[in-house]
Amino acid sequence: RALFQPERENSRGWDLTAVDQLAEFDAGRNAYREGHWSAGPILAGEAEGEETLRVTNPADPADVVGEVVMSSKADVETAISHARRWQAPASTRGAALRKAADLYEEHAHEFFALVAREAGKTPKDAIAELREAVDFLRYYAARGEELKDPARGTFACISPWNFPLAIFTGQVAAALAAGNAVIAKPAESTPLVAALGVRLMHEAGVPREALQLLPGAGRVVGAAITSDPRIAGVCFTGSTETAIGIDRAMAANMDPTAPLIAETGGLNAMIVDSTALPEQAVRDIVNSAFQSAGQRCSALRMLYLQEDIAERFLEMLKGAAEEMGIGDPWAHSTDVGPVIDARAEKGIVDHVEKARAEGRLMWQLETPEKGFYVGPALIRLNGIEELEREIFGPVLHVATFKSHEIDDVIDAVNATGYGLTFGLHTRIDERVEHVTRRVHVGNLYVNRNQIGAIVGSQPFGGEGLSGTGPKAGGPRYVARFTEPTRIPSLA
Ligand code: GLU
Repeated sequence: RALFQPERENSRGWDLTAVDQLAEFDAGRNAYREGHWSAGPILAGEAEGEETLRVTNPADPADVVGEVVMSSKADVETAISHARRWQAPASTRGAALRKAADLYEEHAHEFFALVAREAGKTPKDAIAELREAVDFLRYYAARGEELKDPARGTFACISPWNFPLAIFTGQVAAALAAGNAVIAKPAESTPLVAALGVRLMHEAGVPREALQLLPGAGRVVGAAITSDPRIAGVCFTGSTETAIGIDRAMAANMDPTAPLIAETGGLNAMIVDSTALPEQAVRDIVNSAFQSAGQRCSALRMLYLQEDIAERFLEMLKGAAEEMGIGDPWAHSTDVGPVIDARAEKGIVDHVEKARAEGRLMWQLETPEKGFYVGPALIRLNGIEELEREIFGPVLHVATFKSHEIDDVIDAVNATGYGLTFGLHTRIDERVEHVTRRVHVGNLYVNRNQIGAIVGSQPFGGEGLSGTGPKAGGPRYVARFTEPTRIPSLA
């Protein structure tokens, strides 16, 4: 039984190739083209707030999407002292989370507009984002209803800007499904969509004491909620570096059994051998490396091509990449939108420019002027060991290998210490088995793209420096938010 994924139904999503659905998507989303949102601390007690900041569109910093009132130190204290476990029966909690899923779908167009303007999401990414959030709510609601073990207490949930609705909602829903109280800190650049999610969860029946929101700075809010002995566990998605800092702060200040559930970075590779179908591999590479402007922790960073096919293959890859639309994420013709902010842009551009200066930049597509854009780029390396850090943007690195070197490639990938996703394109069955056994990653994808894990079908999470587990969207995730050892056995 445990081998099988529980039955479920995923959110239906929108099919933009169907004219009626496209028209509905456009009409609904256009109503929010000029929309203005606000966020601030959402607490069970009185909020104080600190300074108010403008939230702007990464594709056009002159487009003000809304305002956020940053949380003060006093707000953090108010949240922690008002947090109460969600004592309602699991069925009541499940019903509220399912109701929240329905409300999310009712607000689909507002979410589509908000994630486009606050986070630079293209229509395709916006739909995937909402679907994943809805799936998490329903899937974790059901898993919570299967649990016997009690909640741990108050969880701190710290989420990233690259999935400002999906991962935000997934963390919160899992902790709530198990009966915990949640204090959520959304990413600094995407508080508006998180605030809308929290309002809808409250409307669906999640008590205010069980779910509070603290938008604010990492050094104020994040630092406080990851080092307070009243916090029973931390759920974090973001950089490996930050996760290590959180781990240390928790160890110094919290109950030693408090879990850190972390999903972090990756140096994700793909091997394409000479038996692969080139058209399919090219499509999957473009998708894995450049969709969401490469801002997924699952994204392909390091492509290994078998030497004998490399030249022809790289020509095809360039041709396919040149067909991509780069620009305003609101437009249906856009495949690659902006990166999240000026800092991200600079970090990625510096990396590309260094490669250019060293003569390793093979091509870079055009970069729009306005907004935080980086033109998709291809950089030649000798191997993954030359990639010093995760470049969180539309930059792909490529190396070649000879047929007998495949184990060296896998060993080099393993040696990075990361282990999130891995892609393999081959038509040799024994090779699939061999690579599967040898590579240390959480998610291995064969003859397809390597992003976009589906809740309930492809539990997502990595090994080593890529995360602590358990896998998000998998059957064991919610159980990690409970206290399995402290209840005496009645059997
Ligand atoms: N779950 C996402 C995927 O499969 C990636 C999550 C992340 O970037 O943190 O593409």
